[in-house]
Amino acid sequence: MAGVDLGPFPDLAGFDRAAALDADDPLAGWQDAFVVAEPDLLYLDGNSLGRLPRAAVDAVEDVVTTQWGHRLIRSWNEGWWDAPTRLGDLLAPVVGARPGEVVVSESTSTNLFKLAVAAVRARPGRTRIITDDLNFPTDNHVLAGVADLLGDGVEVVTVPSADGIHGPVEELLAEIDDATALVSLSQVCFKSGYAWDVGQVTRAAHAAGAMVLWDCSHSVGSVPVDLGAHDVDLAVGCTYKYLNGGPGAPAFAYVRADLQDELANPITGWWGHDEPFSFDLDFRPASGIRKFHVGTMPMLSLLAAEAGIAMVAQVGIDAIRTKSVALTTVLVDLVDEHLAPLGFALASPRDPDRRGGHVSVSHPQAWGITRALVEEGEVVPDFRAPDVVRLGLSPLTTSFTDVHTAVGRIADVVRGDRHLAHADSDLSVT
Ligand SMILES: *Cc1c(COP(=O)(O)O)cnc(C)c1O
Repeated sequence: MAGVDLGPFPDLAGFDRAAALDADDPLAGWQDAFVVAEPDLLYLDGNSLGRLPRAAVDAVEDVVTTQWGHRLIRSWNEGWWDAPTRLGDLLAPVVGARPGEVVVSESTSTNLFKLAVAAVRARPGRTRIITDDLNFPTDNHVLAGVADLLGDGVEVVTVPSADGIHGPVEELLAEIDDATALVSLSQVCFKSGYAWDVGQVTRAAHAAGAMVLWDCSHSVGSVPVDLGAHDVDLAVGCTYKYLNGGPGAPAFAYVRADLQDELANPITGWWGHDEPFSFDLDFRPASGIRKFHVGTMPMLSLLAAEAGIAMVAQVGIDAIRTKSVALTTVLVDLVDEHLAPLGFALASPRDPDRRGGHVSVSHPQAWGITRALVEEGEVVPDFRAPDVVRLGLSPLTTSFTDVHTAVGRIADVVRGDRHLAHADSDLSVT
């Protein structure tokens, strides 16, 4: 690794350890499958917006120039109409589902709404939706909206985490009772990276006669989801994070095969009709996962997402998880060694089984530190109020030496007080 500028972070032994891990990394070659416009920039935000796959550039070029520009409306019969279910089948093995159980369409928020309404309606007389306060706020907002819409005493019970890092496991399990219609959680929590035991919660919900709806936005493409093995009823998740689908790429929705007849999509649009081109005024739902379609799908975004999903499916989620755990373990050790003395505290679980693909650290000046790193063009993490810097490690694009160098740059900013100049920056996206 001659020629690497370690700057004011002369932890050569640590760098050598990281370099040795890179040399042994079977996934290292995948970095070349992505566009890297600034080679020196350490991008640690792939859990918010994954990097651009080179294959997506070609796909978008083809969709725009050939499929739209040349083939025009004929393209609907040449791969567009089936794209949401084709991408769903491509993604199915990544989340442990079977073909026909996954569709890629709409946003995570919209899919969550559709599936939560369908689930609660399938449990008439039950009034409780259980979630926690580590969930992504859109989930809490959507669930509250679902309760409001359905009325009849339906309410959301939000179980608080004691430390803001770990899921409130015992407290949540204790809330699940015979009035519970639905338990809905994020498999990996967006702020702390806490990873729920999907099997444990799902079994408890089923034992009480309730359904589960997992939001896998922060796990899909990074942590195995195993929907089938755990007999999960319903799930949703983003494709623009660890699946590298592109900004605002359509999300996925999973409905276990045996529930597809029973559940009804509350947004009855023409794409979910059994025969959309009959233009029948009476709504007859499609069978299978297609009944969860709503309206015309954004083909440019959908087909851009295919490349990233295909790549993760090809690599395999178990190999990805193995590297992810190794990356976060190296980072946690570096936080203890180099950042804790500078006032940082680990804000993620220490147990790798309970941790997803990102590591959060808290610091009273987290905002200024994040801005200094981004403005200086050194590291791109993100900030989550009030005091968390999130460091996202994408197994296909992040190396062990990236992690090591990033910690050095973070330490350097704080030691040089360079974050103080950025404490008052004001931005809409943090
Ligand atoms: C990123 C994320 C979302 C975002 O939902 P959108 O509808 O795509 O904006 C939702 N839930 C979780 C858990 C997330 O991590």
